[in-house]
Amino acid sequence: VITVVGAGRVGSAAALDIVLRRLDDVLLLDIVEGLPQGEALDLGHAASSYGIDVEITGSNDYRDMAGSDIVVVTAGVPRRPGMTRLDLLQRNAEIVRQISSRIVEYAPKSKLLMVTNPLDAMTYLALKATGFPPKRVFGMGSILDSARFRYFLSKRLGVSRSSIQALVIGEHGENMLPLLSHTSVSGVPLPEIVSTDGVKGTVEETRGTAAEVIRLKGGTVYAPAAGVGEIVEAVVKDRKAVFPISAYLDGEYGVRGVCIGVPAVLGREGIERIVELQLVDEEMAVFMRGVEALKKVVSKLEISQ
Ligand code: NAD
Repeated sequence: VITVVGAGRVGSAAALDIVLRRLDDVLLLDIVEGLPQGEALDLGHAASSYGIDVEITGSNDYRDMAGSDIVVVTAGVPRRPGMTRLDLLQRNAEIVRQISSRIVEYAPKSKLLMVTNPLDAMTYLALKATGFPPKRVFGMGSILDSARFRYFLSKRLGVSRSSIQALVIGEHGENMLPLLSHTSVSGVPLPEIVSTDGVKGTVEETRGTAAEVIRLKGGTVYAPAAGVGEIVEAVVKDRKAVFPISAYLDGEYGVRGVCIGVPAVLGREGIERIVELQLVDEEMAVFMRGVEALKKVVSKLEISQ
């Protein structure tokens, strides 16, 4: 069973994505009575239309997550227009602490996929609060930033999104790092196709687009849900897919003691390996700004080691 904690906008859309990928049965958990049960019914009806026979259940009882292979945490307050992800820190930390203790109690062998913002800080908090090994705790952020980067590059270059390889790593926040140096079109390095200046605007577009969606419609929903689905699929199917995800660094990139977006090999055990990229100086500077910002944020959380 895959448990999705938080049956709000992102949680319910993520559940649908998981159902459409036919990955496993899904349990939706929320503290609001009726909400996860209603979402489960609605999703079950959709599954019926699609001819998909997975079970979708809704519950307010954490004990029901017993035996879950993967727990996706989307519970928490989202940003409102004008807020940064960091403005959510203390409220969501309290929620993530509570949920982490339930996960330890009822699903101690699960892999944990964090979605709640501020993403990297909440991933770190969940790692410490559960005491799980780092390979079993990771966060969905950079994979979504990368999808957005490909979207803008595709518009600028006039080629299919599926032909673009592009990565965003670093903090899922103000210091996110779209890597033009590692962008290619079907393997052809970007500078051979277009001058880097011609696509520089896509970096700013990628950084700002979530705030734009929030301003226009109140929150991001389908794109985060798709990012969750991709990661859950890689784990369930043991695909050894390389995705950028928030992972605990223990010396990689010369960094120790934070969770931040880096490419990693994902399989049945969770994070099987972190991939270290050669970054140019400018990129390394932005990456390190993210690291320092996250260290500062995490120090406000009073996490006992
Ligand atoms: P939402 O308000 O629609 O849903 C949140 C749900 O969490 C609510 O239904 C609420 O009842 C539930 N909840 C609160 N405390 C809970 C608890 N202790 N146990 C179980 N459920 C609980 O919000 P949303 O738009 O779905 O966003 C959810 C979170 O995801 C926010 O923190 C948002 O910032 C984050 N988010 C992250 C990304 C990303 O890329 N990582 C993208 C979008 C949203």
